Amino acid sequence: MNEKLIIIGTGPAGYTAAIYAARADLAPLVFTGNQIGGQLTTTTEIENFPGFPEGIMGPELMFNMSQQAEKFGARYAYEDVLSVYREECSGLFVVTTSGGAYKAQAVIVATGAKARYLGLPGEKELIGHGLTACATCDGAFYRDVPVCVVGGGDSACEEASFLTRFASKVYLIHRRDMLRASKAMQQRVLNDPKIEPVWNSTIAAYQTDESGELCSVTLQDTLTDEQRPLDVKCVFMAIGHSPNSAFLGDLVDVDGAGFIVRTNGGTATKTPGLFAAGDVADPVYRQAISAAGMGCWAAMEAERYLLSLE
Ligand code: NAP
Repeated sequence: MNEKLIIIGTGPAGYTAAIYAARADLAPLVFTGNQIGGQLTTTTEIENFPGFPEGIMGPELMFNMSQQAEKFGARYAYEDVLSVYREECSGLFVVTTSGGAYKAQAVIVATGAKARYLGLPGEKELIGHGLTACATCDGAFYRDVPVCVVGGGDSACEEASFLTRFASKVYLIHRRDMLRASKAMQQRVLNDPKIEPVWNSTIAAYQTDESGELCSVTLQDTLTDEQRPLDVKCVFMAIGHSPNSAFLGDLVDVDGAGFIVRTNGGTATKTPGLFAAGDVADPVYRQAISAAGMGCWAAMEAERYLLSLE
């Protein structure tokens, strides 16, 4: 059976698109991907999502959105999408997943972004052995030992603040001497006695102990190139994210960083019937609430597109 609308991704953009599309009687099929609920499921408290004056935990917010979409008729497929192409003859999109191939008249891509690493030698092997991009997932493993966070944005500050619950000391390693994070986040971090900013610095190398676990890093001063060791048991990387757009091939244009280029100021892409919402198509704002807003636009634009086919 051909689907009317497939939604790929279950962050705030995907779920909001699913809520709107389901309420428009499109019964969207939503592919959850491997990280159900997206990046917010790896965060802690969200203080700036409107409607929650006391804040809400990221996983809880995503669970609520998921339930809301399901209530109106969205269907979930717990599969990872591998590729999408458009059939010349039928004009239908063919979405190939880890579980099979599905056809749809329209597709909304809301696949978000994945954490970036520094690209140093041995980095891949170290992930899970003292190198991670998720404090919520791994912070509790590093109780009463020193750790560090790399980055100067909101994510880095949020991670550093969260890690103070467990670690004996949290070094915040930033390549400049000024944080990029919002003022509120900056204040929280700079006033925390457990967090020590390490300005104008980056990591040049990782060292492991005899069991292959991280035991220290080599810091490099970004102004003088001077190097010094720093004993930490875990590095939490928070240097931004890369959009998950490569699986779309030529169906979309992307900018230099891989963000999908939208063509109408809304969520349309260069392929009619293919819409993009949330972090995968937003190089500027990248907020949960702006992703949700884009999910709403995408569903409304997809609905209009589907009507035009009738
Ligand atoms: P970001 O704002 O892009 O910050 C990335 C940080 O990593 C920057 O400080 C950057 O340094 C540093 N960096 C980048 N590449 C690096 C490299 N190769 N080596 C060393 N440092 C590097 O990313 P983000 O913090 O993940 O935030 C993304 C978006 O989500 C932002 O819009 C942010 O406001 C939002 N966000 C909001 C919240 C919240 O409101 N609760 C929480 C998390 C994220 P420079 O500063 O020198 O460029």
